[in-house]
Amino acid sequence: MGPVMINEEILLIGAEQVPYFRNQEFSNIMLENEQLMKELAFAEEGSRAVFITGSGTAVMEASIMNLFSKSDLVLIINGGCFGQRFCEICDIHEIPYKQIYLSYGDTLTAEMLSQYDPCDFSGLLVNLHETTTGVLYPLDILHAFCNKNPQMYFVVDAVSAFIADEINMSKSGIDVLLTSSQKALAIPPGVGIVIMNKRSTDHFYSNTIKRKSLYLDIREALINGERGQTPFTPAVSIMLQLNKRLRQLSYDGIETEREKIKKLASDFRNRIQNYPFKITWENLSNSMTPITSYNGVSGNTLYNILKDEYDIYICPNGGDLKDKQVRIGHIGNLTIKDNDTLFKAFDSLLTRGLL
Ligand SMILES: *Cc1c(COP(=O)(O)O)cnc(C)c1O
Repeated sequence: MGPVMINEEILLIGAEQVPYFRNQEFSNIMLENEQLMKELAFAEEGSRAVFITGSGTAVMEASIMNLFSKSDLVLIINGGCFGQRFCEICDIHEIPYKQIYLSYGDTLTAEMLSQYDPCDFSGLLVNLHETTTGVLYPLDILHAFCNKNPQMYFVVDAVSAFIADEINMSKSGIDVLLTSSQKALAIPPGVGIVIMNKRSTDHFYSNTIKRKSLYLDIREALINGERGQTPFTPAVSIMLQLNKRLRQLSYDGIETEREKIKKLASDFRNRIQNYPFKITWENLSNSMTPITSYNGVSGNTLYNILKDEYDIYICPNGGDLKDKQVRIGHIGNLTIKDNDTLFKAFDSLLTRGLL
């Protein structure tokens, strides 16, 4: 799900000429972006953040291949496409792993983890919000498991959870937090962000892992980032848009934005009860709601009708959930009025006998 609706002020930055960036003015913006990202993630003293041109998957791959090698063993929580993506990354980079495989909609329990306790994994990889289903895994349970096994690096893909759901790196002992520009940050796609606590920053710097990519080398990104630069041309306009957005978030408070998203989600979740849909799964992220028709209306068909006949974009699913569900996003520049518009369209579809 995403890209999402972007506010006017930020869109306008994208329409401007792209400035030269190997200078102090741009470095200052990058340094501020790093500082604000760390603050919004509640990262401890000594943490760092780097920006990589690419989508969220680029930072998933960059962080894993720079943290682990053949001699490690990591544990992956796999409850959908994004958990599976971590497995693929480990396959490609020959990083041994075990997985806790969850069926769609299942959430993670302390028992599932405790079977490995104590363990000798060197990392725990989780997509905090598994966007395939909307399920949000319990951070407290994951944190408790990491606490008991402190040798593990706790890597959290929060691409779709950041801002929408409460995340505090320090409180939850997160070593590496991943996000990207096009979800709740609500700017155009093209930038992935890695936020690292002190311990993992030291590990990335230490260069103990064989260098396997020029472009996705986090150590190089860290070294260049010290002076507010990147090894390669950054997505300059997106970094300027990010700066505006982070300043807005920092000024308003990240909690304010989260409350806004949460309110939209609960408004939608209350009102959908009056329509022939069920909310597909439980334990959901605030960022979106997966719904399934009681009357067998295909999710993909619903997506197409809303797009073609009502100019409304919801998020279809791929794979084996293609017909079973659609996802309604609550992140980005949306208001309750947008929920009104969607329910008006549902009313119309009901009248037409299409729901
Ligand atoms: C969107 C998303 C990603 C990144 O996907 P890209 O298409 O590479 O941007 C990664 N993890 C999760 C959980 C996501 O929702």
